[in-house]
Amino acid sequence: MRKFKSRLFADATGLNDDPDLVACLERDSAHIGPGAVGGPVAKIQIVLSRVDGAILAAENGTYGTETTKAVKKYKDSPKRRLLQPGQVKADAFVGKRTIKSLDEDMFRVENPGPGPTPPSPIPVPPNPARLSGATLARLDVPLALQKVNAAIRKLKEYETTLNLRLGPIIRIQPFDAVTENALRTHFRLVGFDQPAPPNAGATGRGFPRRPIKMEDVKHLLSHFIRIQTLFVRNATSFTDGAPVDRDGNPVAAAAVLNSGTVIYGSHFRNFTNSEAAAIGRNSRAAVLIHEGFHAVDVEQKSGDDVSVHISEFDARYDKQGANDSIFNPSSYASFAAHVLKGSDPKPRFGLGPGARGL
Ligand SMILES: [Zn+2]
Repeated sequence: MRKFKSRLFADATGLNDDPDLVACLERDSAHIGPGAVGGPVAKIQIVLSRVDGAILAAENGTYGTETTKAVKKYKDSPKRRLLQPGQVKADAFVGKRTIKSLDEDMFRVENPGPGPTPPSPIPVPPNPARLSGATLARLDVPLALQKVNAAIRKLKEYETTLNLRLGPIIRIQPFDAVTENALRTHFRLVGFDQPAPPNAGATGRGFPRRPIKMEDVKHLLSHFIRIQTLFVRNATSFTDGAPVDRDGNPVAAAAVLNSGTVIYGSHFRNFTNSEAAAIGRNSRAAVLIHEGFHAVDVEQKSGDDVSVHISEFDARYDKQGANDSIFNPSSYASFAAHVLKGSDPKPRFGLGPGARGL
């Protein structure tokens, strides 16, 4: 039976508590303070950085002056006031009450809840073809948001684990298997402690993979968070129109890169017609995420049709290098669907083979 709630404060197996942190919780003499080094210090620093925005990378795993300042600030905050009887200002140590508070804060970081939801998650009526494209898209937002929120939750967990592994760390936590698999499948990014990427074998798969960096995780997270914001304000970010591709052909939906707006046309409704029977709500959610990425693509690389904008159904998708994948809107849509489902959907959601140009 664990005494802590957060995964961060577990040991390497994930099943039991970190023994040094339990000692800190149970005995005054086992408090952690200036001069301490190792995994428990790194874990305290991770909580302080996630909860209070403390920047402690320079002292990773060492309880130095910056860590001391951050601990005092944490304990002094008006909502916590983790002071001893008679104290006016917090001392420099993490003791019983502070370690308990850090655990509870970390638990909230690890379990952010369902995230923002749009004002009215209404079920799609039986005849969506009568709705305008943007109206139908609004009705699909709850499902698309569910996927985007799952992606954000998983990436935040991954960020925490990666942070732990990058420091001078004593205990190694396992990465979440679903997240690892989804990062490998859709972004060709692999954990740096996995075996070296193989050369292109008979299948050609695996060739473009590269070890993941913290900046990749931050890049993916920041874009998913921008898509989340776009969906939450869909009343102003979704508009009706007659979107066309660059050849002038009508398409279901389109976004000018980094425009913050997605235009939906009559083709978005037609997904429910008999000739598009394979296209259902999950595929419309994939279109929302795909176009959402175009709309929030700050670096405006997702419109590169040759090397970046490759459909999840295209054979080249599996061979796309990581540096292009992290700008591919189809990778975002497919990653989000993958982590919510727990596996890569087969066939993948979206508009199917030959649907490029959306
Ligand atoms: Zn596109």
